[in-house]
Amino acid sequence: MQVIKSAAEMRQAISPEKATGKKIGFVPTMGALHEGHLELVKKSLEQNDLTVASIFVNPLQFNNVTDLQAYPRALDEDLEMLRQTGLFATFCPEIADMYTDQPRVSIDFGHMETVLEGKYRPGHFNGVGIVVSKLFNIIQPDHAYFGLKDLQQFLLVQKMANDLSFPVQVIGVETYRSSSGLALSSRNRRLSNHGLEIAANIYKGLQMAKQKIAEGQPIQRTLDSVLEFYNSTSGLSVEYFEIVKADDLMSVENTSPKSDLAVCVAAYVEGVRLIDNLYLHLH
Ligand code: AMP
Repeated sequence: MQVIKSAAEMRQAISPEKATGKKIGFVPTMGALHEGHLELVKKSLEQNDLTVASIFVNPLQFNNVTDLQAYPRALDEDLEMLRQTGLFATFCPEIADMYTDQPRVSIDFGHMETVLEGKYRPGHFNGVGIVVSKLFNIIQPDHAYFGLKDLQQFLLVQKMANDLSFPVQVIGVETYRSSSGLALSSRNRRLSNHGLEIAANIYKGLQMAKQKIAEGQPIQRTLDSVLEFYNSTSGLSVEYFEIVKADDLMSVENTSPKSDLAVCVAAYVEGVRLIDNLYLHLH
């Protein structure tokens, strides 16, 4: 596996492969890797001739400097983990190489960036859109793999690729969970064992919501009862908990929706912000 530090070298490495018609898979990450990231890598290795991963903690997508500074970093361990997988290359650029200038272009995703994560992290999806666009242009993948844990990110990147005609197919990968149900996340590294136990209740609430909706309970009542469960869990502080349409993230007002839904939550445990969601297939 090549470890590539600059955009110019990355282009140089990928161009001849692209020229021979090889299918290129791409897995963008911010590092501090875990099994969830490896699931994306595995999918890409299966579906492409070669796979490139990237590790880049993108300052542009952090609206909060403290959050950016506290974001876990473990580059040596990450590269060791990735070396075992059979990747073609890992691209880990410096900030100065990715952002020679502060970008003048910004990406406005319209309504879909004003809800859920976008509502609480202003500017976050502009930062995601810019960095993903740059990475797509540098790596020129045929397929790019994103986790459904970050459902809003996946949907927005997929729509951006379509709106801007990027020649890449954006593929969503199921959320990988620990045996407690907790979605794996780089941020989990900042939790104590007790914090991990508290955080497992995030998924329990999502499952409760799924069960209640399947039983025909109205959406608002479902939200209220699960929120009561969350609020009674000591150490868990919910930022948002919503049920939305799974394709456009619009809120669901009627009690008998026709399209698939997603239950989405963001919560703090021990000062760490965690997100999760669950698809509700209605048909
Ligand atoms: P991150 O490094 O957190 O930016 O994540 C990089 C990619 O891995 C994103 O597409 C995430 O959605 C995905 N990812 C993170 N955690 C998981 C997980 N538990 N299961 C599946 N994909 C994940």
